[in-house]
Amino acid sequence: MEKLQVKVRIISNKKLKDNYWHLEFESRLIARNAVPGQFIEVKVNHGTDPLLRRPISIHNVSKSGVRLLYEVVGRGTQILSEKRPGDLLDIIGPLGNGFEYLRKTAKPDSSQAVLVAGGMGVAPLVFLTEKIKFISPLVLVGARKKEQVLCLREFKALGCKLIIATDDGSLGFKGKVTDLLKEILLKKSPADRPINIYACGPQPMLKAVAQLSCENNIASQLSLERHMACGFGACLGCVVPTRAGYKRVCKDGPVFLGKELIW
Ligand SMILES: Cc1cc2nc3c(=O)[nH]c(=O)nc-3n(C[C@H](O)[C@H](O)[C@H](O)COP(=O)(O)OP(=O)(O)OC[C@H]3O[C@@H](n4cnc5c(N)ncnc54)[C@H](O)[C@@H]3O)c2cc1C
Repeated sequence: MEKLQVKVRIISNKKLKDNYWHLEFESRLIARNAVPGQFIEVKVNHGTDPLLRRPISIHNVSKSGVRLLYEVVGRGTQILSEKRPGDLLDIIGPLGNGFEYLRKTAKPDSSQAVLVAGGMGVAPLVFLTEKIKFISPLVLVGARKKEQVLCLREFKALGCKLIIATDDGSLGFKGKVTDLLKEILLKKSPADRPINIYACGPQPMLKAVAQLSCENNIASQLSLERHMACGFGACLGCVVPTRAGYKRVCKDGPVFLGKELIW
């Protein structure tokens, strides 16, 4: 779908816990056409302060609404958290290239896909899980500590297998979510290993996922986060090196194949 610049009406904007918020806005068109991994650029204020829009992933969609999951980390997201139901939000979207995934398969098999989320990386992976729930993917959710583990209820409701990892061991596996992934891959014979790994999270996590997937001959798709200005490929502010030269995270990504990235 062509990107839209529109003013959309906010349906709800609620604090989930701590600094985490859910925002839902009306847009039948984006809800119908968006692909998991795509994002929108939000203008959080009238006027020019702050100047740049803020990129936020599409978390999931309903028939006529689009949901965002965001963490208040600075001024832009703070202003966003002050919006009220009924307010208009100036957005551009859907933007970027999302995840490639099987639309249907003759043989449901949970070993086909592993999703790896680190911190706020859960945001686009809930939408992806909705699309591929018929293969009951294995979802690994990692965070520093249990208070920062997000979206467990959503993943459980979608019927996927879920394993949690926290760096401090306060919930689930103690260690990095990539250590958990490594352990899972080690236990499986090559024939039982997943066919696809989808991941979103901080850069070191994505690098480790790319490495593990290459070592184990598994295809991986990674959703990258970069500071970006325009969000649609014009300013070249978010380029990353790949085996095919520099690519724009906002327009060529944010989802890239693990094997094409240079770290
Ligand atoms: C494609 C994409 C999808 C994203 N999806 C989500 C999402 O679903 N939910 C969510 O909470 N956040 C998401 N982000 C990150 C989000 O855009 C930033 O947190 C936000 O722009 C911060 O704005 P701010 O004004 O509140 O903070 P600022 O004052 O601009 O920055 C505060 C802190 O956040 C860091 N930061 C700012 N922008 C980014 C960025 N793009 N990537 C990494 N760190 C950043 C800054 O370095 C600084 O430490 C996404 C980013 C990208 C590129």
